[in-house]
Amino acid sequence: MDIGFIGLGKMGFPMARRLVEAGHHLFVFDQRKEAVDQLVALGAVAASSPKEVADRAETVLASLPSLQASLEVATGENGVIEGKRVKRFVDLSTVGSHMAVRIFDLLAKRNIVQLDSPVSGGVGGAEKGTLAVMVSGPRAEFELIKPALSVIGKVFFIGEKPGSAQTMKLANNLLSATAVVATSEAVVMGVKSGLDPNVMIDVINAGSGMNTASRYKFPRAILPRTFDFGFATGLMVKDVRLCLEEAKSLGLSMEVAEAVGRLWEVVIREMGPESDFTSAIKPIEQAAGVVVGGKGAKT
Ligand code: NAD
Repeated sequence: MDIGFIGLGKMGFPMARRLVEAGHHLFVFDQRKEAVDQLVALGAVAASSPKEVADRAETVLASLPSLQASLEVATGENGVIEGKRVKRFVDLSTVGSHMAVRIFDLLAKRNIVQLDSPVSGGVGGAEKGTLAVMVSGPRAEFELIKPALSVIGKVFFIGEKPGSAQTMKLANNLLSATAVVATSEAVVMGVKSGLDPNVMIDVINAGSGMNTASRYKFPRAILPRTFDFGFATGLMVKDVRLCLEEAKSLGLSMEVAEAVGRLWEVVIREMGPESDFTSAIKPIEQAAGVVVGGKGAKT
């Protein structure tokens, strides 16, 4: 297939690379020229704007870091909306259901179909092609893009209602965000009382407390204190805030989500939006006066 791809960041680059390697013809754009150059070296064709991408491919995928970026790329000046060839815009970013519907409505006026397709599974999943890919939008359009999306992961059809895949993704990420801070609190408590954090994680992973933070984030990025899992705190906080907004607009109060949201606001304030989200443990450690893992490592 001819596929456009906009946003070649931590997630977008490995997804686009897999599509090139699977034999698709890719037209790519990113604000960072170096990312475009690297993909061109692998066989993709560079474009100079989202519009140019959409002039050249019927299907345009995007993996962008903010709601504003998705809106601008899709519907702004020189955006996908102005493309001559484009028929569908598939947003792999997490933007929440309200922004997804807004983009859907704006593109529909130009006969371009927006499909939500947020993904879960991190940079490792993007590299290996094992992401959970959640799609919502018109079923016939979904069937057309399913073979290409299968290259990046396991594809789930969530429903025809625009934005419903975003709601699914926010529910998933609330659990991911909760796992990081809840496991951090539990391990910090143990370390404060003298337990070995390596033993704690082994026990939790063999027991009923096991979760994605204990399974992957602690062994890979927290215990060795590399804090390089590949997902920015700013993006995690974006998703938690979107989830809380979603709950509010449904008239729900989510007690756990609100507590988790407050903790993540502390993390972004103290660690900054560019920090890796595994740094969430640091304010919890600082409050307790302990360091978890990495003998002698500085917090
Ligand atoms: P990133 O910041 O690493 O990448 C974003 C890319 O978009 C960058 O290369 C940037 O230069 C480019 N960009 C920004 N604005 C642009 C514009 N207007 N036009 C063209 N390019 C532009 O972010 P990421 O971690 O790859 O995340 C992308 C999306 O995927 C986010 O919505 C995020 O929430 C979601 N996501 C991330 C992860 C993860 O583990 N990193 C996992 C699942 C979902």
